[in-house]
Amino acid sequence: MRTAHRTCPLCEAVCGLRLTLDDAGRVTSVKGDPDDPFSKGFICPKGASLGALDEDPDRLRAPMVRTGGEWRETGWEEAFQAVERGLTAVIEAHGRQALAVYLGNPNAHTMAGALYNAPLIKALGTRNVFSASTSDQMPKHVSCGLMFGDPLAIPVPDLDRTDYLLMLGANPLESNGSLCTAPDFPGRLKALRRRGGRFVVVDPRRTRTAALADEHLFVRPGTDAYLLFGIVHTLFAEDLTAVGVEVEGLTEVRALAEDFSPKAVAEVCGVPAEVTVRLARELAAAPTAAVYARIGTCTAEFGTVAQWLVDVINVLTGNLDRPGGVMFAKTATETGRRSRPYTTGRWHSRVRGLPEANGELPVATLADEIETPGEGQVRALVTVAGNPVLSAPNGVRLDRAFGGLEFMVCVDPYLNETTRHAHVILPPPPVLRSPHYDFALLSFAVRNYARFSPPVLPPEPGRPSEAEIIARLAMIASGQGAEADPALLDELILDQMLRRAVETPGSPVEGRDVDELRAGLEGGSGAELRLDAMLKLGPYGLSLAALREHPHGIDLGPLEPRLAEMLRTVSGRVELAPPQLVADAVRLRERLAVPPAEIVLIGRRHLRSNNSWLHNVGPLVGGSNRCTLQINPQDVARLGLDGHAVVRSSTGELTVPLEPTDSIMPGVVSLPHGWGHAGTTQRTAAEHAGVNANALTDESKVDLPSGNAVFNGVPVTLAPA
Ligand code: SF4
Repeated sequence: MRTAHRTCPLCEAVCGLRLTLDDAGRVTSVKGDPDDPFSKGFICPKGASLGALDEDPDRLRAPMVRTGGEWRETGWEEAFQAVERGLTAVIEAHGRQALAVYLGNPNAHTMAGALYNAPLIKALGTRNVFSASTSDQMPKHVSCGLMFGDPLAIPVPDLDRTDYLLMLGANPLESNGSLCTAPDFPGRLKALRRRGGRFVVVDPRRTRTAALADEHLFVRPGTDAYLLFGIVHTLFAEDLTAVGVEVEGLTEVRALAEDFSPKAVAEVCGVPAEVTVRLARELAAAPTAAVYARIGTCTAEFGTVAQWLVDVINVLTGNLDRPGGVMFAKTATETGRRSRPYTTGRWHSRVRGLPEANGELPVATLADEIETPGEGQVRALVTVAGNPVLSAPNGVRLDRAFGGLEFMVCVDPYLNETTRHAHVILPPPPVLRSPHYDFALLSFAVRNYARFSPPVLPPEPGRPSEAEIIARLAMIASGQGAEADPALLDELILDQMLRRAVETPGSPVEGRDVDELRAGLEGGSGAELRLDAMLKLGPYGLSLAALREHPHGIDLGPLEPRLAEMLRTVSGRVELAPPQLVADAVRLRERLAVPPAEIVLIGRRHLRSNNSWLHNVGPLVGGSNRCTLQINPQDVARLGLDGHAVVRSSTGELTVPLEPTDSIMPGVVSLPHGWGHAGTTQRTAAEHAGVNANALTDESKVDLPSGNAVFNGVPVTLAPA
């Protein structure tokens, strides 16, 4: 028996885990690491199942190649050669714009995803880049990009010091937090209330998070932007603003907000005017306050406007960039911020003309790009850790579209609803055989922190790491062939990184010799070498060796004000009224006159689930069926429903079991996504198949500034089954 420590990679909370393994390397227990200074022993059921996930007998252990309908296991060299043939044939016949790539959400949780997908995209040379970001958080990136000049400059609520937290469309008691890295989020919320703070939740469901709050307010799905504008209106009307940072556009925001009085928006959003006024007064009166809004507000038709208004309120109440308000983390691997001003729409999608954001096109238009003939039609697809058939809008159409591709290669541990269309599947090793560092998630942490996890188990002989798999795909895509050594890619990137650093005035290695710096790097792989370089160039002067000496992680202190370092706008100030968002706010105002749909659909999270990833892990899918349609009993009675219902939308229909509950507003129904498992080798998932909620979501609807899919507030009708 032995004990090992590592970070949990299964959600954004980055909890430290303590694992016990037997002599054969089997995990016998997983507990929270009490010595981790950030998570302090917290663990949830997902983390406790990490051993079961790694040892899942349905995981692919060798590459799979499909010929017609026949799958066969193959060696790695043969698989990479098949990829080279497939990609080369499409590039030669149709050019690089016939290629597309889709990156799933787990890429945010691996070193390979953080370090190797960018070179892969560059090597593919296509503008058809899609990811889970446009099914999730792209509105936040775009609003922060336009306000602060950097789409990664996302302020997070200073959870441990705030006196007042207004939370919209987030359910951290199930999700454990999102775009706000905070292990033991529930404990931090309870601590807020214990120290006399106030916590208010706005959500169409009385979630477990709402049940923990001082106050819960129902809001109609997709109308958060109206409620937030009502608060902005009140702050101006009652002279409650206390702007503490340099801003541009204050007058424009004030003028825009005039039409969104609490009274004017009350009917559409379902929040009484006097309550909206009180929220504004409470936010202004609190010693410190933070407004935080997540996926329910992002995946709506005015998602970017809502995210923008969240930070407008944080600015107006004087809470941007101050302890107890919303603040920016400083990570140990931050080696420089963007130098060009942020913009969107540098190119547009071929079929629908949707603007690029963050170098990506909306996943809502991926099927259009595959199915629509013409110059630039997508004919080959690379996916890394993604299952868009279950997680993207109108997954049923995507399922059909993938069937028509000339070539598809997937980096994925499972044969699932998406990868079943691949010609080659390249399975990465299990989590415990991979090193881990959270590059992305620590940028959104509520406390500065760093932790490196070396592999708990040695690599399996002859099996490439996930980093090597993606690096070899990049080498193939760039024309260097299936036999090219992936280490060359790491050396190229290291050389560029070090050269830039020695030439940058004020850098910790300014004027030093690149070869000498390269010789001083340590790491057992290209990914570790690159991490070591970033740590040494980063703001804390750490190194991989220093992190290895602290296996439980290093606390780098509370968040500190740093707006001046973060701002990358042309004006050098916070842009309160970016023209793209002002234009969408005008569209929002015009929508005030449109009557709402009678019944709308929303999604929901569950503590033992994470999108479609974890449904083949027995301990996480036991118990009662979770893939149910939550519905208010008033609607059950009004519509004469019993047991099951047929739900119809503009894109499809599903028959689903009903779960009547007064925790959801009348006129709103909720179905979780990530289910609908069928026809794959994931045996446990097939036993708990559920239905694909994305048979009902409409890929023709997007949030215009960001291209984000609209999953929230989908009009549906219900009939007895
Ligand atoms: S909260 Fe997230 S990071 Fe923590 S144990 Fe659970 S899944 Fe892992």
